[in-house]
Amino acid sequence: MMNIIDLSVIIGDIDLTIAYLRDQKILKKSHNHCGKPCLQIFDKTTSDNWIFRCRQCRRKFSVRQDSIFSKSKLKLQNLLVLVYAFSNAFSVTQAGKLLKSTVSEHSIILS
Ligand SMILES: [Zn+2]
Repeated sequence: MMNIIDLSVIIGDIDLTIAYLRDQKILKKSHNHCGKPCLQIFDKTTSDNWIFRCRQCRRKFSVRQDSIFSKSKLKLQNLLVLVYAFSNAFSVTQAGKLLKSTVSEHSIILS
């Protein structure tokens, strides 16, 4: 299990955040459409920076497709902070504080 220092490094980078969430099997590594694995392409218009695009019909899918985060509007970094907080048995108040400290800037201030 990662510590708070690892967490602050991971959430400082969306690619690391996605990689970590995939390692934890929270996000899927690939998405299939039209019977083939989709391409993962860079898309600056999403906060996730990446999307899946079907090679056949070119339909686009979120990297959150079929995950518990698929309906969330929060950034993946913030969702990871919440996962971290609750898996370390933080109280709701503590989790809220941790999230608040990471929302505007990705540095963690422990009080
Ligand atoms: Zn398709």
